[in-house]
This record gives sequence, structure tokens and C-alpha cells, in this order.
Amino acid sequence: MREFGRPEPGPGQVLVKMKASGLCGSDLRAIYHEHTGSGAERYQNVIAGHEPSGQVEAVGPGVDGFESGDRVVVYHILGCGRCGECTKGFMIGCRSQERAAYGWQRDGGHADYLLAEARTLLHLPDELTYTDGALVACGFGTAYQGISRAGVSGRDTVLVVGLGPVGLGAVMLAASSGAKVIGVDLIPERLELARDAGAAHVLLGGEDAAEEIRDLTDGRGTEVGMDCSGSAAGRKLCLEAAREWGRVVYLGEGGSVTFEPSPLLLHKQLTLYGSWVCGINEMGELLEHLERKGLHPGSTVTHTFSLSGTRQAYETFDAGKTGKVVILPEDA
Ligand SMILES: [Zn+2]
Ligand SMILES: [Zn+2]
Repeated sequence: MREFGRPEPGPGQVLVKMKASGLCGSDLRAIYHEHTGSGAERYQNVIAGHEPSGQVEAVGPGVDGFESGDRVVVYHILGCGRCGECTKGFMIGCRSQERAAYGWQRDGGHADYLLAEARTLLHLPDELTYTDGALVACGFGTAYQGISRAGVSGRDTVLVVGLGPVGLGAVMLAASSGAKVIGVDLIPERLELARDAGAAHVLLGGEDAAEEIRDLTDGRGTEVGMDCSGSAAGRKLCLEAAREWGRVVYLGEGGSVTFEPSPLLLHKQLTLYGSWVCGINEMGELLEHLERKGLHPGSTVTHTFSLSGTRQAYETFDAGKTGKVVILPEDA
């Protein structure tokens, strides 16, 4: 814990009073454990937390569209604003030296205040809580883009492998799009969370999983598979369980996978997508979807901590048996 002064918003900037700040698997992988991320995850010893949501406290000169008291979600990456990816809203894909993510290369949300650029903010609908907003900022945004890439609809059975925060988001968003969802994880506690998030079936991963999934789909397999585990077994299972002409999305980060392309990909005529977080426009669509469907990502949160409990928050999240863990800075 360190003390910082209250920042002053400059031109185009907004000072956000933090209300909720989520912990993400990538915080564990590239900051908590290694502290040595590279590339986009190059951590610069700034205030951590890339899933911020809060209330506008003050706005700097030239800021339009936001004023004191507004509830906001923060798209957590600031790009150059000029390149092809930025103009599409995918600031995550910006390759400029100027690119900076909150909680990685500039101060993030594990604090009382966050100094944000106005062009990374979205209005949080009144129906959603700040905790919902924090989850939208990364995990649910990631899940939403996966759902969009695969074009998930009510015609699909969707397999979600890996039921951590992103996986639970995928379950909730696929189910709310009308799909029948099968959730798979190795940790029994997570299966229950997936059921609560809308999974029709849940099962423990293992050697028989592909066959169990076939049984659940009248021997046909799943139209959509989403790997949120980042594990070789999870990635392979999505391909094995896929129906002919199915779509598979890899969302889980890290690791590697080996498989035989002919039987698992080519002969099944599969489409395999890689999907990395989302763009700010998709995040706006997601907020709209949540509002329209009356959904609350915050229901996947199992543990909350005050700012002074941040150490404990990370220890708890790192134990791997929780749903989402969120810091609520105002809790004393
Ligand atoms: Zn994240
Ligand atoms: Zn750019």
C-alpha cells in the first residue's frame, strides 16, 4: 500500500472516484506472480487494476459528454487514436508507443481515484451496479466479443471450457442469447457458479468429457465451443466436441496446444477464431445487452474486499476456487 495525491484532470481527462475495481487472471499471471510482463502486459510499476468503474468527480478542459456525478465504465486501454485499430475502437490492438493500459502502463483502479482519458469512458446505465461495470471493463467484454465472433444465437449449443470469470461471462451471455450452454471445469465449485450463470449442463473436465458432451447433444456435438481455460486440454476439447461446420473461439490466454488438424479441424469444416478482449464499441453494445436483458455480471462475484484488503483479495483470487474478486475502494 502506498499513498498517492489526488490527481488533477488535464485537457481531455476525467477524474473518476473509484467505486469498484476487479481482479483479472492476467493480473495474477503477469503482475502478481511474475511482475515481469512483456509486450502488452509490460507492467510499469503503476497502480494496478484494469477493471475500473466509478463516478466522475471532476472533468478537465475540453471534455464533452461527461460531467461530475456521471457513472462510468473505463475501457482499459488508451491507444494513439489514429491508427486503423484505434479508429475501429480496438485500442487494445494499437501498436503505437503511446499505447498505455490502465493498471499496466498507467495508473489503474486499485485506488480511491483514477485519472482517465475521456475517450476511454462509457456511461454506465443506471440499472447496472458499479461492480457490474468493473466486470464489463475486461472479463465480460472479452466474453462478449467471443460470443459475437462466433455469432452465438438461440440455434446453438455452446460449450464453455474454463469457468473462471471470463468463462462465467461467456455462459451468462450465451445463455441470454438463447443458446443452450454446457460448462466444463476441473473445479467443482466453479460448476455451481456456471449453473447460476445460466448453464443448462455442467460437467467435470477429464478423459470422458468429449463423449459426455456428445451424449448431451444427441451425438451431434456443439455448434460453438469457447475455450476460456487457456489450457491445452480445454482447447482440444472444444475441437473434439465441435459439430461439423461448428465455430470454436479461443479466449483463454497463455500456454500452448497440440492437435491433429485433419480430423479435428479440416474434416469437420470448423472455423477457429482467436479473440482478444474487445473494442470500446463492443463494450458499449455489451452494456446495452445487459441493460436490455436485465443481467448483472456482478452476480459472478464471490468475494469483495476494501482497498486495505487488497493483499488478501489477491491471495484469495490466486487460490483459484473463487468466482470474480472485486475491490470496493469505499468499503472501509
Ligand atoms: Zn483483464
Ligand atoms: Zn492506435
